[in-house]
Amino acid sequence: MALTFYNTASRKKEPFSLLPGNDTVKMYCCGPTVYHYAHIGNLRTYIFEDTLCRTLEYYGYKLNHIVNITDVGHLTSDGDTGDDKMEKGAAREGKSVWEIAQYYTDAFMKDWHALNIEEPTRWTKATDHIQEQIDLVKTLEEKGYTYRTSDGIYFDSLKDKHYADFARLDVEHLQQGSRIDMGEKRAPTDFALWKFSPKDKKRLMEWDSPWGIGFPGWHIECSAMAMKYNGPTLDIHCGGTDHVRVHHTNEIAQSECATGKPFARFWMHGEFLRLDGNKMSKSSGEFLTVSVLMDKGYNPMDYRLFALTSHYRNYLNFSFESLDSAREALKSLHKKTDPLIGKATAIQSEEAKKWQQEFKDAIGDDLNMPRALGILNSILKTELSEGEKAALVADFDKVLGLKLDHPREEFVKKPDPNAVDDTAEIEALIGQRTEARKAKNWAESDRIRDLLKEKGVEIKDSKDGTSWKRV
Ligand code: AMP
Ligand code: ZN
Repeated sequence: MALTFYNTASRKKEPFSLLPGNDTVKMYCCGPTVYHYAHIGNLRTYIFEDTLCRTLEYYGYKLNHIVNITDVGHLTSDGDTGDDKMEKGAAREGKSVWEIAQYYTDAFMKDWHALNIEEPTRWTKATDHIQEQIDLVKTLEEKGYTYRTSDGIYFDSLKDKHYADFARLDVEHLQQGSRIDMGEKRAPTDFALWKFSPKDKKRLMEWDSPWGIGFPGWHIECSAMAMKYNGPTLDIHCGGTDHVRVHHTNEIAQSECATGKPFARFWMHGEFLRLDGNKMSKSSGEFLTVSVLMDKGYNPMDYRLFALTSHYRNYLNFSFESLDSAREALKSLHKKTDPLIGKATAIQSEEAKKWQQEFKDAIGDDLNMPRALGILNSILKTELSEGEKAALVADFDKVLGLKLDHPREEFVKKPDPNAVDDTAEIEALIGQRTEARKAKNWAESDRIRDLLKEKGVEIKDSKDGTSWKRV
């Protein structure tokens, strides 16, 4: 079966191959804005992109995979208003923007590696590419796609007749609906390419430019860096679904107007991770990180497996119950794969080859990782020789990246230094619940169970009584 990906641009699954004469996949993935920790939702997107890279490699492709670090220009509003996220982070923590950027970039890399995400070919920082961004704005200016307001240089989206195509935007409707917050912009879909520093205030990050001192808009960095390292046309561009309407639409507009060439052949977007049905977002400040999971005693691979159990284009709801299920599933996988470590032989039998082909078809079918995991579980139940099973596990793990070539590493729950020991209180509640159950007062017994759950205590009834553990 041909390698097939869902392309957001065409809203269809399309066979993937390189253009004639090319031998490397030109890839660009929008990276983190380093004003805060990456949450496990952001990391779901990077895990999806990692399975994409690993699948391409499994199919024999070489990659030139660029991931950016946004350390300037990302404002709190997509409408080019609001504070700079980096400057806000610096104010929150009483540090310089550069310190904030370094600190959260390091934290991000730690999570990236903990999740066994492969290193890209190149990390690119927005602040290392200011000149390239200025050059791109100059080209757009020369071609007549920009205009100046009192606060910056803007892209004139109405001059790009394809602006609305990618996100299927109803520009007319947008025009009527959103006059608020437009400032001096001519159309709501116009966006800043270069913003001027305020006249009365020195910004922490600012640069000179042909238009005056200021800083680049957020979208321009991705176009400038993607094209610097991959040329005008990428094979694949990725990000989270939230980027389709604004960020990627703007990347396409400014890149294609500047070069006159298609910016990316395939666009792939990861759907959101939700927490209790809501979007998990950095700006709300309420989010879970990989280190929080590790402090709670989870192995990062538990989260990786959890992410792989759902297709990247579906919403995934996070709960500790489902993370626990993933942990149990991974533990039982290890029980079967650990004894196989180091025993791999060649894959020779027809049956083993058939399983390998099924796996390849699953991952090649728009990265169907849930099906790929099912195939891994199935081969462990077959009568294949240990050597062939070991070889298939190692082969599949090149894509799944679950570290099945090592025995599972256990993480220990960190005691909370501020926690009050509430063991006696919990046991008293369990005693009250036992009494309530004896009296067949089910409402009271359920109330106490819920109360214990809120305290992070899980109980289990058996004929020997009630046992409990913290989760
Ligand atoms: P940011 O650091 O906010 O620029 O986001 C980094 C990446 O994470 C982008 O590709 C976003 O689209 C993606 N993203 C943001 N929130 C979520 C979420 N809740 N679930 C999955 N991906 C997300
Ligand atoms: Zn981007």
